[in-house]
Amino acid sequence: CGVFGVYNVSDNASSLAYYGLHALQHRGQEAAGIAASDNQKVECYKGKGLLTEIFDTQTIDRLGGVHAVGHVRYSTAGGNEIENVQPIMVRAHTGNFAVVHNGNIVNAREIRIELENEGRIFQGTSDSEVIAHLIQKETGTFVEKIIKAANRLEGAFAFIIMTKDCMYGIRDKNGLRPLTIANVDEAGYCLSSETCAFNIVNATTIRDIEPGEVVRIADDGLKFFQYTTEIQNKMCAMEYIYFSRPDSNINNINVHTARRYSGHMLAREDKGKVEADIVVGVPDSSLSAAIGYSEESGLPYELGLIKNRYVGRTFIQPTQKQRERGVRMKLSAVRDIVKDKRIMLIDDSIVRGTTSKRIVQLLKEAGAKEVHVRIGSPAITHPCFYGVDTSTYEELISARMSVEEVRAYIGADSLKFLSCDSLVEAFGTKDLCLSCFTGNYPTRLFSLAKTLVRE
Ligand code: 5GP
Ligand code: SF4
Ligand code: MG
Repeated sequence: CGVFGVYNVSDNASSLAYYGLHALQHRGQEAAGIAASDNQKVECYKGKGLLTEIFDTQTIDRLGGVHAVGHVRYSTAGGNEIENVQPIMVRAHTGNFAVVHNGNIVNAREIRIELENEGRIFQGTSDSEVIAHLIQKETGTFVEKIIKAANRLEGAFAFIIMTKDCMYGIRDKNGLRPLTIANVDEAGYCLSSETCAFNIVNATTIRDIEPGEVVRIADDGLKFFQYTTEIQNKMCAMEYIYFSRPDSNINNINVHTARRYSGHMLAREDKGKVEADIVVGVPDSSLSAAIGYSEESGLPYELGLIKNRYVGRTFIQPTQKQRERGVRMKLSAVRDIVKDKRIMLIDDSIVRGTTSKRIVQLLKEAGAKEVHVRIGSPAITHPCFYGVDTSTYEELISARMSVEEVRAYIGADSLKFLSCDSLVEAFGTKDLCLSCFTGNYPTRLFSLAKTLVRE
């Protein structure tokens, strides 16, 4: 998912939120919503589909506001029912507020059962609603309520909360999901999952919200609170590998640059071992790594695959059938480029194997002599519980098969994954979650472990 907020802006706040969310659309395409405040009341509009399908100019004008928060949804926890679409609106005698959340609360089930037993009634099935209930239940100032609630939550979260006149940004203590704050206008602020959304609203990055930190934005400026000292910096490696846009910076590392260096590392591991004629990247997320591979190996970078830009992200389609059709609609081979060539094909990751299998087939049908597949990340052998790859062991091809079996399944002439060490070297940081490659999770897993983890 993607979250975005603007506070105290001179333009229509909903319109800025719309533009910001539009730059985050790649983070979720199933649903979206915006809540706006004019300092008096909080109003919300949300729906299913892409932003452009949900909002028109009249709706944005009607929402208006000087502050706004919004969300683009990729459902990893809870289904895609309208009740789960965010912002989650809390209408309470103590004041209304809106919540947007990216990530996955691993102890949501436990907390929900406890709250339901106290008589609280939930609207939907998403883990994000738990946050809203916890805040409403606590006592103290609003920021104290948030701090108490955040201390109950385990897992991955970056969330933004908006009351009628304040905004809060919160990150989990392991720093799994990104959230950055920026200046906008004279005295306005902006919070975003990714820095790429700042450019479009003319915002300038201040800094990342730290793991275990809450920022309070009010008419007297910014205040930062550390809600726990048990912190780690475990930024999701998949944010760099696949999820984020190349023009975003995460923890001050540019995503395109990180991917490009992972391409360098792949080429270094191959040096002198494989012969190929051209390097081809799978658009869009693997182009940076393919450029890196070409730079390091000296092999020419070619446009062997073209993407139809009117098809969204195939992986983010809920069913396998939709995903397979998606890949077919999305990519085609450039016959004149790939015919009779030995191709070094670079992709960012293999999850179920759907994409790679189809692409190798495409290239061979177009006359490629050999297709060598290089993956800019290690083999995904474990499920993610933090809101990215929800796959179970059964779905994850590398959990079931060896590298050689995966190679045979996708029909490649050779297959190699980047090692964890090379990935760390390429990104230039050890502050990463690598759990889906290693199985070492930074948090307890609670009841999720029983359903998904292989004993
Ligand atoms: P597969 O087809 O193997 O199931 O999925 C891998 C492909 O899906 C990669 O090409 C990657 O670019 C794309 N993809 C889309 N969404 C995600 C995601 O959330 N995680 C990962 N690892 N890959 C994704
Ligand atoms: Fe990211 Fe993998 Fe960690 Fe999930 S398990 S947060 S996808 S690195
Ligand atoms: Mg891809």
